[in-house]
Amino acid sequence: MPRPLYPATLAAKHSLSQNTVQLDFRVEGGFDYQPGQFVQLHFSFQGEDYKRSYSIANSPESFQSTQQIEIAISFVEGGIASSLFSEAEPGLELSIGGPFGILTAPEQYNGRIILAGTGTGLAPYRAMIPVLNKLASEGTQILVMMGVRHKADMIYEQDFRDLAASSEAIEYRACYSREQSLDASLHEYPGYLQNQFPELDLSPENDLVYLCGNPAMIDDAAAALKELGFGPRQVKREKYVFSS
Ligand SMILES: Cc1cc2nc3c(=O)[nH]c(=O)nc-3n(C[C@H](O)[C@H](O)[C@H](O)COP(=O)(O)OP(=O)(O)OC[C@H]3O[C@@H](n4cnc5c(N)ncnc54)[C@H](O)[C@@H]3O)c2cc1C
Repeated sequence: MPRPLYPATLAAKHSLSQNTVQLDFRVEGGFDYQPGQFVQLHFSFQGEDYKRSYSIANSPESFQSTQQIEIAISFVEGGIASSLFSEAEPGLELSIGGPFGILTAPEQYNGRIILAGTGTGLAPYRAMIPVLNKLASEGTQILVMMGVRHKADMIYEQDFRDLAASSEAIEYRACYSREQSLDASLHEYPGYLQNQFPELDLSPENDLVYLCGNPAMIDDAAAALKELGFGPRQVKREKYVFSS
């Protein structure tokens, strides 16, 4: 059965990085979701109807108090949604389908959870922050790894630095593939995030790995994890593939 569509109105738009904005949509009609899930935005552009998928970047607790979901969108040259949302002003109305996806956090985990994302692929982990705090307080080790090209592409960094500062069980690493000047004391690392894997003492018995964002990163990282003996139950992934 098709999921219902919920009416939504663009309430606010904020810049997150040189190429990424956060769109806050007020959603009506009893919408609900689990942290880590995504929605489909249904919209019209130049007389045609389209839908595009976006992860929800704020927690259900935040949604319950504001009735707004937050979406981080990186613009691509000539993209339909990119064209619409780069120009969109508060008041824009569209429909939201969902929620979808199984990139959700476990209620309990006795081991380490590694959350790896490239670009806006960090958004679903931001929605998990209250759950991550709870898991860490129960002894779960958590490593959040963000991969971008340049520092100017980084989003939601302070949220994750604050999260890591709140518990010794939580670590945050920022990986830059095209940045020269890095500060190891700030947990900044050169190269792709999957280049960190050899240092992490990864083990299928202990680690649950989440991969989200750029399909090439996910394929590379999943192949490296398979070599280490990780099965499908220990690697959760959400590829940000384009709509065709
Ligand atoms: C489950 C899921 C969750 C997603 N979550 C997010 C999210 O939270 N934030 C987000 O920004 N995006 C997310 N995406 C991607 C998003 O759905 C769109 O594909 C993206 O915004 C581009 O849409 P567009 O209409 O602007 O471009 P389109 O009109 O679909 O594409 C136009 C052309 O641009 C090129 N193109 C499209 N996307 C890219 C790209 N990323 N890099 C390089 N070239 C590209 C392609 O050649 C394409 O033919 C997600 C995708 C999936 C499947």
